[in-house]
Amino acid sequence: MSIRIALAGNPNSGKTTLFNALTGSHQYVGNWPGVTVEKKEGTLKQDKSIKIIDLPGIYSLSPYSAEEIVSRNYLINDRPDLIINIVDASNLERNLYLTLHLMETKVPMVIALNMQDVLEKKGVSIDVSTLSQQLKCPVVLISALKETGIQSLLETAQNVIASKADVLRPDYFSPEVSKAISSVEAQIVNETSAESRYFYAVKLIEKDEILKKQLLLSDTQLAAITRIIEQLESDADDDTESLVTSERYGFIAAVSEQIQVKPLHEVTLSTSDKIDKVVTNRWLALPIFAVIMYVIYYVSIQSIGDLTIGYVETFFGWVGELLTNGLTALNASPTVISLLIDGALAGVSAVMTFVPQMMILFFFIAILEDSGYMSRIAFIMDRLFRRFGLSGKSFIPFIIGTGCSVPAIMSSRTIENEKDRRMTIILTPFIPCSAKLPVFALMAGALFPNDAWVAPSMYFVGIVMVIISGLILKRTKWFGGKPAPFIMELPPYRFPSMKGVLIHMFERGKSFITKAGTLIFAMSVIIWTLMSFNWQFQLVDQAESILASIGKVIAPIFSPLGYGNWQAAVAQVTGLLAKETMVATFGILNGVAEDSPEIATFVSSIFTQNSAYAFMIFTLLAAPCMAAIGATKRELVSWKETLMVIGFQCGMAYLLSFIAFQIHLFDLINAAFHVIAIPYVWMSILGAIVIACVIVYAMNQRRKAA
Ligand code: GDP
Ligand code: MG
Repeated sequence: MSIRIALAGNPNSGKTTLFNALTGSHQYVGNWPGVTVEKKEGTLKQDKSIKIIDLPGIYSLSPYSAEEIVSRNYLINDRPDLIINIVDASNLERNLYLTLHLMETKVPMVIALNMQDVLEKKGVSIDVSTLSQQLKCPVVLISALKETGIQSLLETAQNVIASKADVLRPDYFSPEVSKAISSVEAQIVNETSAESRYFYAVKLIEKDEILKKQLLLSDTQLAAITRIIEQLESDADDDTESLVTSERYGFIAAVSEQIQVKPLHEVTLSTSDKIDKVVTNRWLALPIFAVIMYVIYYVSIQSIGDLTIGYVETFFGWVGELLTNGLTALNASPTVISLLIDGALAGVSAVMTFVPQMMILFFFIAILEDSGYMSRIAFIMDRLFRRFGLSGKSFIPFIIGTGCSVPAIMSSRTIENEKDRRMTIILTPFIPCSAKLPVFALMAGALFPNDAWVAPSMYFVGIVMVIISGLILKRTKWFGGKPAPFIMELPPYRFPSMKGVLIHMFERGKSFITKAGTLIFAMSVIIWTLMSFNWQFQLVDQAESILASIGKVIAPIFSPLGYGNWQAAVAQVTGLLAKETMVATFGILNGVAEDSPEIATFVSSIFTQNSAYAFMIFTLLAAPCMAAIGATKRELVSWKETLMVIGFQCGMAYLLSFIAFQIHLFDLINAAFHVIAIPYVWMSILGAIVIACVIVYAMNQRRKAA
């Protein structure tokens, strides 16, 4: 059997970065906790017989979250040959808590002390050999990002695996606790293997109900264990959970005291802290966020992004011409030519047109993520969300949801509180995912060429809907109660690495392009067919086609929302498969038309500005695509609940879209914007923000000086 090495560590300690360095793969690396949810496997670059498993980030092996259970089941049931415990050296004490838990599993272990480069920059050094002596475990200093120390880590790992020596662990439990552990061990001899017995015994003393059930103990055994615990509690005059925990912490505190060599110069506010004083400031945080999102959108969709559309259109026009000429030369029938050009090519190219815009947008979002700013937004949002009864932890799935709802829904597993977790799953699809962006970009380009605020406003509509829905759901019998407290580390700001940013950008862009080539291609052919034939399968004008007749049945449903034409109705239905399909649908509708003008002209012929804005809102909020519905079902388990959730999402979409159209929401906002559209109003707002930043900074300097 091949050798298995598991990577375990706190969230954001650099596991995935190390995994990528070891395996040469390109897994997603994010500068916020909770990015890796399921375990991932790869093989060592230098030796394919060695498997590397990237476990989700955890703080302990106590069952506080689904990931901690995933990780500990793996360590206990599958017992890898070695654990590489990644420890963020810049956050040592907190990380070592997990280290002790891992040691209790008695799986052989090597500690990779990560972020060497950060230590050097701060001028802190750590006494590695004392740390290793104290922990009775090899420690190797590395930088996963700069790929230093990796070779030495691998050598140490291989030595430990080869030596097959007994696994030692430091003895940090008091004699009373140790005695109780041994007594519990004696009780569970038949139920557990010799290796994992110690771990189970400690967990039983910690009153871990989940493990207790897994072990299927008899009533006599349970009674005996309860007696041991009660004895210990009365001796120590404390409950066993806090006893065990505080002995662990006591040991860690003693060890870190010995090994940290503090920098010589006085500890000052780090750059990260200084930036945070401004960025997460109570008053400035949200305006700064809004300005940043607006600028990013303006650049990627409106200005630079818009320029690229022309090139892509020219390119596909050229491909179409080449294809038509080739097919004509081959004497292909006009129907086949139309299928390929007006169907497949029109659909795929309509979607592909938006690829450069998406890539630019993903590039900026990746920079925000990697620099650590996204985590700040989660933190800022927590203050806001708390007022509405939601937990800030929900915001991590929301941020991931700007890429795609599927991983976002999965990442909700990081939320310990079951009610909060379900609520997050329901609300995540309200955040505009990358597949919805082409729809917004198309509508914005066609109907709102002069209103740069329209596309980014979808983010705010999404957030407002999350808040409103949160308020509504909290009042139902399923979601009452308090939200779980928010525990999230703010990672330090880092200069984003080009490699990381590009991986993020391509990861997101890739699925987009693959979908265009597969799903959208197939859908385009189907849509073209439905749009070219009638029920008797005769070639007809699109207005008499199968699709038109279906669209005409559904269209009245959308009349109150302002777009009761069959084309828009059909687009909404095809959007259920994948949101980009809506763009492809418009592309084909336009391609099949008599004197096919530009898509934008076509789209603006079937919408008014107000109905288009209502259409965008419906697209934003209505049932997500099939893949996201599948993910929702997987996380919620029951079909009945899943259907209720979809019903809720569609209901909200319909209601809000209806209101938006009826009150002419676009006109209202636009009128408000016109008042402040004068450049010097904007200049003064920006100026005010700058002045406020300076004042906040100066006040902090003064306070520090005092
Ligand atoms: P995970 O959550 O444990 O998988 O952590 P990631 O691998 O996603 O890394 C979290 C963040 O830490 C990313 O921004 C990485 O670029 C950064 N990082 C990882 N290793 C190092 C390192 O050795 N030095 C520095 N400066 N940053 C690192
Ligand atoms: Mg990770």
